[in-house]
Amino acid sequence: MKYLCLKINSIINFVIGKSLAQLKYKKPIMLRVKVLTFNPVQENTYVLYNEERQCCIVDPGCYFENEKEELTKFIMEEGLQPTLLLNTHCHLDHVFGNKYVSEKWGLSLHFHEKEKPVFDFAPQSGEMWQMPFENYNGPIIYIKENTTVNVGKDELEILFTPGHSPGSISFYHKEGGFVIGGDVLFYGSVGRTDLPGSDAQTLVRSIQTQLFTLPNDTIVYSGHGPTTTIEFEKANNPFVKL
Ligand SMILES: [Zn+2]
Repeated sequence: MKYLCLKINSIINFVIGKSLAQLKYKKPIMLRVKVLTFNPVQENTYVLYNEERQCCIVDPGCYFENEKEELTKFIMEEGLQPTLLLNTHCHLDHVFGNKYVSEKWGLSLHFHEKEKPVFDFAPQSGEMWQMPFENYNGPIIYIKENTTVNVGKDELEILFTPGHSPGSISFYHKEGGFVIGGDVLFYGSVGRTDLPGSDAQTLVRSIQTQLFTLPNDTIVYSGHGPTTTIEFEKANNPFVKL
């Protein structure tokens, strides 16, 4: 009897173990999202990380020392290894921490080629806004629309979403059902279009063709303010008609 019980137990364990392993295998690959809000402009910095503890940092806006420490603390406490540094666009509030992140974790900066003039102007813009900072000065890797970048095995599609800025891109993680959109689309609003290189019509077209074509339940993580969804913005955003 004892032998039989042991045998049944081991069969059950084997079956459960096997199905758990299958579940784990079949589980969709997903990135988790951490938001940290930094600098006087209250910019959202995003850390996207996977189960293997690899992560990418999008738009590090950390300006003050305590903000750089907060970002570092999160990464250390979660045991993450940053593998990718991305900018949706290069307005100053999104690039303050590029140099720090690059030097801390040995990363090269990635953004769209059309954003280079904005990137070059950022320190001057910092002087104008009384927020001087040292711009990133390492190698720049240009990323093209309709390609992908990876955080380990997890893929981010590059959507070209200009208008607020000439080379704005959004990072779409299909499996996770979210998009990191920078300053293109906000909860009930859209990005400013009164800045150099901005264009209102282009912005609306970007939202209509690149973002409103995503599944309705896609979560939008914006460069400022709370998250929203494509469905909510389609129904309520007063700046964009379908
Ligand atoms: Zn911006």
